[in-house]
Amino acid sequence: MFGFLKKKTKLPVVYKRQEHCISRKNIDPDALKVLYRLSGLGYTAYLVGGGVRDLLMGRKPKDFDVGTSARPNEVKKAFRNCFLIGRRFRLAHVRFGAKVIETATFRQNSQTVGEIIEHAAEGPFEDNTFGTPETDAYRRDFTVNGLFYDIKDFSVIDWVGGMKDLEKKVIRAIGDPNIRFQEDPVRMMRAIKFSSRLGFTIEKRTAAAMKAHHRCILAASQPRVCEEVFRLFPYGHSAEAFRLMYEFGMLGDLVPELAAFIDGDGGSKSATFKYLEVLDDYETIMAEKDFEVSNGLRAAVLMTAMFRAENKDGAGRRIMQYLMNSLKIPKATYFTAVTLMESTKRLAQPPAKGKQRFIYNRDFLDALDYNRIVLRAEKMSENTLDKWADLYEEKGNNE
Ligand code: ATP
Ligand code: MG
Repeated sequence: MFGFLKKKTKLPVVYKRQEHCISRKNIDPDALKVLYRLSGLGYTAYLVGGGVRDLLMGRKPKDFDVGTSARPNEVKKAFRNCFLIGRRFRLAHVRFGAKVIETATFRQNSQTVGEIIEHAAEGPFEDNTFGTPETDAYRRDFTVNGLFYDIKDFSVIDWVGGMKDLEKKVIRAIGDPNIRFQEDPVRMMRAIKFSSRLGFTIEKRTAAAMKAHHRCILAASQPRVCEEVFRLFPYGHSAEAFRLMYEFGMLGDLVPELAAFIDGDGGSKSATFKYLEVLDDYETIMAEKDFEVSNGLRAAVLMTAMFRAENKDGAGRRIMQYLMNSLKIPKATYFTAVTLMESTKRLAQPPAKGKQRFIYNRDFLDALDYNRIVLRAEKMSENTLDKWADLYEEKGNNE
């Protein structure tokens, strides 16, 4: 009786050790220590999130996060080097020197679709409450980010179809994308970040939801949006990322002045993207050297086509003001970006005697790199800039 009311129990797809390519030798030894210790104490312990995705793709993960059935205080008890952070949702940071292995208890998102919503209707839940591996998979943003690597038997546990999507190179929201993007609009920027960075396409329904809800990005917390904007730059895919930001309408929501300039400058063929392409080569080289490019330089390159078109004194300030107003970029980023934009005139002249003080400016090295990017994008000679670089080599280092 009432068989139709019975909940369907869903099981994850489990890929055994020999059915996937993750090898422990590619996992950070300290992350392994955390996993083994928790598992040894009888808790469930998984490698989760972007780390699993990157390992499966043969990429080097940026960080290794752990998901566990142990409660934060239990994690703390298990490690001497563990600190609990966060007020609303407590996260355990297990520290190894400067390295942190983020260790989070499985949780659930009260607003997530499907079965979890039924649970949410049962009682007053906080935004985030503890959950099971299943609920923890479903609260994540995209299927390729929802995979678990189980330290107990070295299998990959897939509740959300992430393995198939990894193979198909697809970014697909978990659950109903319309709900997931309204719930947290920053996810739309994350879709663009992963799509451009990994070379994945955004699945049709996910993309349609982004087209429908792009304006919701204005309701997201500004510091988070600002942070995600600058996360579009590392790894050398910013041209593609900002083209998608423009095409989905989010650039128009966030920085209308820039989107309007791009509209009048050939749309997706705007020079804006040419400058970003040259920046991307530079970002790739810097990433190989483990060197982070400054956000001031990134912001300056993003606004360069617009700045060059204006060609008036004080244009740098005015144009960077748009990013200040809309993205609330930090003052220091703003000042560096303005200095870089306004350095172009000066560095286009050879460093004559009495006009060399700029090499002592704290942004001088960024200015050299910025102007090299501009000259390369415009296919102009770098000879004069080389003279400034030589002068810096000679004098700038020793003051
Ligand atoms: P990266 O390589 O840029 O660090 P990542 O996938 O590790 O990529 P993080 O921002 O470090 O991304 O987040 C870790 C994991 O947490 C993600 O893989 C995803 O499962 C989950 N996550 C992060 N942000 C969200 C969000 N806004 N909504 C749902 N899940 C999220
Ligand atoms: Mg990460």
